[in-house]
Amino acid sequence: MPTLIEMEGVSKVYRTGQVDVAALAGITLSVETGEYMAIMGASGSGKSTLMNVIGFLDRPTDGVYRFAGREVENLSDDDLAAIRGRRIGFVFQTFQLLPRATALENVELPLVYQSVSRAERQAHATDILTQVGLADRMFHTPMELSGGQQQRVAIARALVTRPLLLLADEPTGNLDSRSGAEIMALIDRLHAEGLTILVVTHDAAVAGHARRRIVLRDGQIVEDTKTVNR
Ligand code: ADP
Ligand code: MG
Repeated sequence: MPTLIEMEGVSKVYRTGQVDVAALAGITLSVETGEYMAIMGASGSGKSTLMNVIGFLDRPTDGVYRFAGREVENLSDDDLAAIRGRRIGFVFQTFQLLPRATALENVELPLVYQSVSRAERQAHATDILTQVGLADRMFHTPMELSGGQQQRVAIARALVTRPLLLLADEPTGNLDSRSGAEIMALIDRLHAEGLTILVVTHDAAVAGHARRRIVLRDGQIVEDTKTVNR
């Protein structure tokens, strides 16, 4: 499989007043297309920063990052936004849905930015919501949905652009264990269908779904293990 993510000595330093915080301190990492990887580590170890850099929400301070063979340093912010919009789906612990919009409108939104016609947007969003088991909830707003259902909407929104990569930062962190298990079953299915998945978690049970696990400490990778296929 081709390499999707390649990092060499990537650092990220945050300047806050007098002190510099090295959120990432020399990350060297290679992830192939189709991998399913968990990112673990204590709070403050750099997990979210690594996700943000991988997903172009933040640029490295130092080092080389290539995504699908293209070096991020040579790409403009507009290029990165365009690649992010089409190739990368994000899922967050707090769902991050628009509260006043229906599930369908939330899922359509990434396609609005790509000037896809209204009819095509609706058809595609409907299709994806059906795939995540929400065909009968499409016209509800987030407040009218359970946490697990809201996260399904967020996953549908992440998938609607047909991304190469799904980045999930603590996707089950706000869910009860049963809803969390359902979300992980959905993510497992997406992996089986060929999507590359990176999931940040501090939950060993969630990490157990992945096929590879890296552990961060103080912005460095201190462990990188392939887990046995279950
Ligand atoms: P994790 O997700 O593992 O909890 P983070 O990546 O959020 O860790 O943070 C890593 C380190 O970088 C922490 O020390 C955190 O305080 C710091 N940090 C993260 N984001 C910022 C920011 N925007 N400005 C300043 N410091 C930050
Ligand atoms: Mg975090």
